[in-house]
Amino acid sequence: MNYIHEITTYLNTEIPLQYQESYDNCGLLVGSPDFELKNVLVTLDVTEDVINEAFMNECNLIVAHHPIIFKGLKSITGKNNFERAIIRAIKNDIAIFAIHTNLDNISGGVNFKIAEKLALTNIKILAPKFDSLKKLTVFIPIEKAEEFTKTLHNAGAGNIGNYQECSFTSDGMGTFRPNEKSNPAIGQRNKLEHVRETKIEVILPSHAEKNILTAMQKAHPYEEVAYYLSKLDNQNQNLGSGAIGELPNEMRTEYFLDKIKAVFRAKTIRHTKQIKATVKRIAICGGAGSFLLKNAMAQNADIFISSDFKYHEFFDADDKIMVADIGHYESEQYTKDLLQEIISEKFPNIAVLLSKANTNPVFYT
Ligand SMILES: [Zn+2]
Repeated sequence: MNYIHEITTYLNTEIPLQYQESYDNCGLLVGSPDFELKNVLVTLDVTEDVINEAFMNECNLIVAHHPIIFKGLKSITGKNNFERAIIRAIKNDIAIFAIHTNLDNISGGVNFKIAEKLALTNIKILAPKFDSLKKLTVFIPIEKAEEFTKTLHNAGAGNIGNYQECSFTSDGMGTFRPNEKSNPAIGQRNKLEHVRETKIEVILPSHAEKNILTAMQKAHPYEEVAYYLSKLDNQNQNLGSGAIGELPNEMRTEYFLDKIKAVFRAKTIRHTKQIKATVKRIAICGGAGSFLLKNAMAQNADIFISSDFKYHEFFDADDKIMVADIGHYESEQYTKDLLQEIISEKFPNIAVLLSKANTNPVFYT
């Protein structure tokens, strides 16, 4: 028997809510975490059609990219499609979980999925975030250092880009004098002690600080753990907006536009002037991405694939980069597949269905 909180807790651990943008509203929005779980339905948007689909397929958890409750509701009377969807979900004990900009902002998230669909290599975050990393320095008797470092890694410390279990250790001499009230693991009260210790330094994401410090305190033999935490100004390679990667070989620009159309089933692409005969460096932002155009230019991308560009924003390309607006729904459609993969990998015995409802409100004629 599984419960809804098993899935939601897992998703919140792997793709933390702390990674969402300040305006966002991710997490469990409708329903109880204590519902017994039947099947899961993954979707880009939640509409009445999607709730009906969930009901027909005995799915009582919908995992959606776009939050159905976004700006706050003052009443729920069924006056529009979203309110009717919420009412229907509540009546039928269907829970709705949103995983939006936190899934956009991680390496391996929405934009990496788009890059994978275009068969790009060397994929990185386009605009990495600052202020999200800390360094932990902790001292421990030498003989305990190796196992202790593993504990820190298991708790989520030591990830840099594509490298895991990163740490730096150096050995030296630690001193301490336990006082009257102490209960020292090594040494005696009121006597200066010298102990051969290892200094361990690891990087950690701020959101995991509590977990890591709890694991550290638990695994450390000393009554008082000597450690310090420092804030880092480093970019976080695993966190940020958009993605950039390269085609294995240069491709003629018009062929690449055809490829985008085919991969994203886009009827039309709104784009700026073609300035290069071929493209190789490809910048991406699923959904509305005009805020990243300057980053794509700074990283010498040949083309920036995104959506929701306004007329005046196309001018900002300034003949230096090609902007290709492929449509919001089109750009994010594979997020469903990504969510299915993430959930199924951890819970292989739970049926995770891809919503078949086309929720795109935009039609092309
Ligand atoms: Zn979106």
